[in-house]
Amino acid sequence: VEGYIGNITENARLNAFNEVFAAEALEEAKKIDARIKQGIAGKLAGMVIAIKDNICYKGHKVSASSKILKDFTSVYTSTIVERLLAEDAVIIGRCNCDEFAMGAANENSYFGHVKNFADETRVSGGSSGGSAVAVQANMCHAAIGTDTGGSVRQPAAFCGLVGLKPTYGRISRHGIIAYASSFDQVGPITRSVEDAALLLEVMAGPDEYDGTLANNEVAEFSKNIKAPGKKKIAYLQEALSSPGVDADVKNTLVTYIEKLRAEGHTVKPIAFDHLDYMVPTYYVLAMAEASSNLSRYDGVHYGYRSPAATDLSSTYKKSRSEGFGKEVKRRIMLGTFVLSAGYYDAYFAKAQKVRRLIREKTDAILQEYDFILVPTAPEPAFAIGKQEKDPVVTYLSDIFTVQASLTGAPAISLPAGNNSRGLPLGLQLLTKHFDEQELLNFSKYFL
Ligand code: GLN
Repeated sequence: VEGYIGNITENARLNAFNEVFAAEALEEAKKIDARIKQGIAGKLAGMVIAIKDNICYKGHKVSASSKILKDFTSVYTSTIVERLLAEDAVIIGRCNCDEFAMGAANENSYFGHVKNFADETRVSGGSSGGSAVAVQANMCHAAIGTDTGGSVRQPAAFCGLVGLKPTYGRISRHGIIAYASSFDQVGPITRSVEDAALLLEVMAGPDEYDGTLANNEVAEFSKNIKAPGKKKIAYLQEALSSPGVDADVKNTLVTYIEKLRAEGHTVKPIAFDHLDYMVPTYYVLAMAEASSNLSRYDGVHYGYRSPAATDLSSTYKKSRSEGFGKEVKRRIMLGTFVLSAGYYDAYFAKAQKVRRLIREKTDAILQEYDFILVPTAPEPAFAIGKQEKDPVVTYLSDIFTVQASLTGAPAISLPAGNNSRGLPLGLQLLTKHFDEQELLNFSKYFL
C-alpha cells in the first residue's frame, strides 16, 4: 500500500484518482497482514484495488465525476465492494471517470481529463479512464470499472491492459450508480488474465438486491484456467476493410489471425449485416435509459441544490442546469426525445427491435464459432481534445464494443502490443453468454 501511495503521489498529474483513501488503506493493510500471519486471510489478501467513482462504498464519497454528486456520501456499500472486502482486498481510492460513465475518453469528467501514462498528451480512454491509468501507472494492483458500451474494455485497450466485461447478469449492479440499466456491467481492469478471473469469481453470483442476476454457477475461474483445444474463430471482415480503422490496428489484427491459424485454430472472416445499426441502436437505448435513471437528481433528494432556487420548479431547473455537464445534458435531452409520445415508436421501440435482431444474429454466429475477434477500438489512444468538438465521432468509435453490450455477451479486451509510437493496441474476444471460463482460457493462451 505504501508503494502504491508513493506512485499515486508521484503521478498525481495523470489525474487518475478523485480521492485516495490513504490512511484507511494503510490501516486495513495492517489488519490483513495480521490475518495472513494467522493463516485466515481471504483470497484477495495482498491485492490493492481502486474503484471507479460510480461505485458506492458506505461512508465514502461517490461522485460519478459529476458536480451534481460532488459532495455526496454513500449510505450503503455496493455488493461488489462488500465481496471484495470480504476476501481481504484493500480499496485504495476512487478513480476519475466520465461524468455518469458517459464517454469514451474520460474528457467529460467534472474533475478534468485523465492522461495516458504511455503518452501524456493522449487520452486514457473511457469512461473508466482513471481506473485503467491507475493500473497502467502502477498506482494499484487492479481496478474495477463499469462497462455499459465499452467503458472497461476500451480504456484497458488504450492502456495496454486486460479489461473484462462479464455476461449481463453475472455481477450485481446493487450500489452502482446507474447509467443504462439494461447494459451496465461491472468489470475488472488488470494486468493478467488470472487476476481478471480471480476478481470475476469474487464479484459474481446471485444477490438478493439485483433481480436481473442469473443463478448460473460461479466457478473458481482462476483455478480452472487451462489450455483450450483448437477453436473456431470468426473475425469481422469490416475491421480490415473499413477506412475508419487505423492501419496499425488492422496490421495487429492480421498478425494475430495468422498466429492463431499457425497454432491450428480455424479463423474465418464474417460479414455482419447489422454493423451500421449497432452504434445508433446502442445510443438510442442507452440515452433513453439514462434520461430515466438521471431524473432522480432533482436538487431535492440528494446531491447538489442550486443556491439560486426559489421554488420547486426552479429547484429542479437550476440544480440540474448547474449540476450536470454538457454531455450528460445532451443525452438526457436526446433520451427524453426518443421516449416522447410522438417519437417512441419511431426511435425507442424500433431500437429495441433492432437490438433483438443483433442479438439473434450474434447468437447465430456463436452457434458456428467459439469466439468473435475484433479490435477493441478503431484506433489507439488519440490526442486530448481531438474528439471533444464532435460527439458523433466519439460515439462511432464504440463500433466494436457495443455488440457485446447490446447482446449481453461476455467480452474481453487483451493487450496486443504497441504501435511504432509506443501506444498500446487492444484486441477483443466475444463469446456465448456465461462462457467466461472458455473466454479466460483462450485469452490466457492468446496473449
Ligand atoms: N462510450 C460509451 C458511452 O458513452 C460507453 C460508455 C460506458 O460503457 N460507460 O455511452
